[in-house]
Amino acid sequence: MQRRAAPIWIAVSLLILAGCAANLASGQTAATTIAASSPALQTATTAGQAPATPLIPPTKLPTPTIAPVQWPPTVTPTERPLPPPTSTASPLPTPSAAPTVSPAPTLAPTATQRPSPTVAVAASPRTTTIGQSVQGRPITATTIGNGPLAVAFVGDTHGGPERETDLLVQMAITYYREHPAEIPSAVTAYFIPTLNPDGLAAGTRFNADAVDLNRNWQTRDWDTNAGEPNGLDKGAGGPRPFSEPESRAMRDFLVTHHVAASIFYHLPWGGVYSEPNSVPFAQAVAQASGYPFHLPGKDTPYAMTGTAHRWADEHGQLSLLLELHGSASIEWDTNHSGMNATMRYVVIHH
Ligand SMILES: [Zn+2]
Repeated sequence: MQRRAAPIWIAVSLLILAGCAANLASGQTAATTIAASSPALQTATTAGQAPATPLIPPTKLPTPTIAPVQWPPTVTPTERPLPPPTSTASPLPTPSAAPTVSPAPTLAPTATQRPSPTVAVAASPRTTTIGQSVQGRPITATTIGNGPLAVAFVGDTHGGPERETDLLVQMAITYYREHPAEIPSAVTAYFIPTLNPDGLAAGTRFNADAVDLNRNWQTRDWDTNAGEPNGLDKGAGGPRPFSEPESRAMRDFLVTHHVAASIFYHLPWGGVYSEPNSVPFAQAVAQASGYPFHLPGKDTPYAMTGTAHRWADEHGQLSLLLELHGSASIEWDTNHSGMNATMRYVVIHH
């Protein structure tokens, strides 16, 4: 039975294939049936044909391309700027407003962060603020050199009446910037034009608290009543040692920078004034600069207590007080020699 039935099925299938071939010959292509999904074209095609329904799914394929359109806008990149602002702007409860504002601030930080590395690279002569005066003026130090031995040249302590000492150290900054080779490779030189910017601005000898900043240091002989050009001045030493921000800033600088030797400039007594542990150093500077040398505690016009160079000397640093001859000149040539002698001295004796 099965063997007889086979020829019949073959004959039927051949008839079906012949029917399909007839349809293709009549121009019913796949392309036209896809187009039939369009309502406009549907009228042009022969209505009521069965193949139209299975072809609907392909027409849905183009629509998924709408989803990729949402892709380019990529919300994620615009959301990236958000993290930085969240540190400061996180309190904002409205998330919708935050994204639009946040991109701008993130651009600003990246722009400002770029200059900072370049500033750090250009470091050779650099000026830093080491403290502030009573009235908030900065006390600055300019650094030249990179050696392990620190020396400090401190200009004006006594304000307006001794402003040439400020100009002297400013001149030194200008000079050594142009002649950095004069600073030994083992030395870092710090230049502090003024410890008393308030007194310099006001034209007074004392700081804004009416304290003499060269009587305010915690030496063995500190006294609130201090010797001054016009006699004993009650309270000129300050209510207590290091009561003033200027003297504290200078003390902290000497300590933290491990200053090996320092000169504090004054006027108008014309000489080098030494302290017990710094006599050879003071003699070397006096000899190089030509200023008269004075033994510790000798030849001062009045008793000086709580002085900066004495505090440094008592704390293991070489230090001296150098008085210019007056306010007529900053006496650059002699002091230039004294500064170079200071740097040579620390190199030889350390
Ligand atoms: Zn002075």
